[in-house]
Amino acid sequence: MAKVLILSGAGLSAESGISTFREADGLWEKHRVEDVCSAGCLDTNGEATRAFYDARRTDLKDKKPNHAHKVLVELKQKYPQEISILTQNIDDLFEKAGIKPQEIVHLHGFLPQLRCRECEEIYEIAYVKQAEFNHGACPKCFGELRPNIVFFGESAPLYEKLTSELNECDMIVVIGTSGNVLDVTYFAQLCDYSILNNLEPSSAIDDKYFTKVYYAKATEAIDTIAELIEEFLENA
Ligand code: NAD
Repeated sequence: MAKVLILSGAGLSAESGISTFREADGLWEKHRVEDVCSAGCLDTNGEATRAFYDARRTDLKDKKPNHAHKVLVELKQKYPQEISILTQNIDDLFEKAGIKPQEIVHLHGFLPQLRCRECEEIYEIAYVKQAEFNHGACPKCFGELRPNIVFFGESAPLYEKLTSELNECDMIVVIGTSGNVLDVTYFAQLCDYSILNNLEPSSAIDDKYFTKVYYAKATEAIDTIAELIEEFLENA
């Protein structure tokens, strides 16, 4: 049976009211990335960094998945072995649409979790501020906790999973990413069939390498994309 890799980015959640990163002139929610999202921030700018992620996490509470999240989760449930969903997003909108934790890979971490900087234990804290969880200390070793997010310049352990999925997949579907972090043009060249959906062309993506390109809102393009995925899987 053929394999399909679905790779999403901030654009997928944009219509749910979560700001994308690049479209805000290199700012993310009015913050300079290097101040609050880069390796070393926790040591040089800890208070502001924690406050930034606390705000993102509490903001997530009322956000709802959109039509595109729901269609992708339905597809995953229909083809559990054939479809893999990997996302650069740190929000929980796929989970709110019904996906189970083991059915999705959050390549850049997950906002509703904290991780101990000492023992690496991960804790689910839903939407509360970091300091409200066990006074900000690891319940196991009393080490310092941090958002379970991959900052720019840090290693991303789950890229190993991305590599193995890329080696196996026949089709790749890229939705809502500018390609500045992950080289999706290269990924498309590894697959027999590839689909790109963004709002507009990106200077970091060469769209001629994609079989189909849709410059449209994800919620508008998703039904056509889902049909193509099903067609591909049924005819493979
Ligand atoms: P990006 O902001 O660099 O690019 C967003 C892309 O989405 C653009 O190409 C744009 O054309 C497209 N887009 C915008 N609205 C869309 C819509 N309605 N439908 C379809 N496409 C749409 O995002 P990125 O490539 O994911 O990289 C940003 C980094 O910041 C990632 O590492 C990610 O982890 C992080 N981030 C995450 C979230 C989140 O979790 N929701 C939000 C912002 C940033």
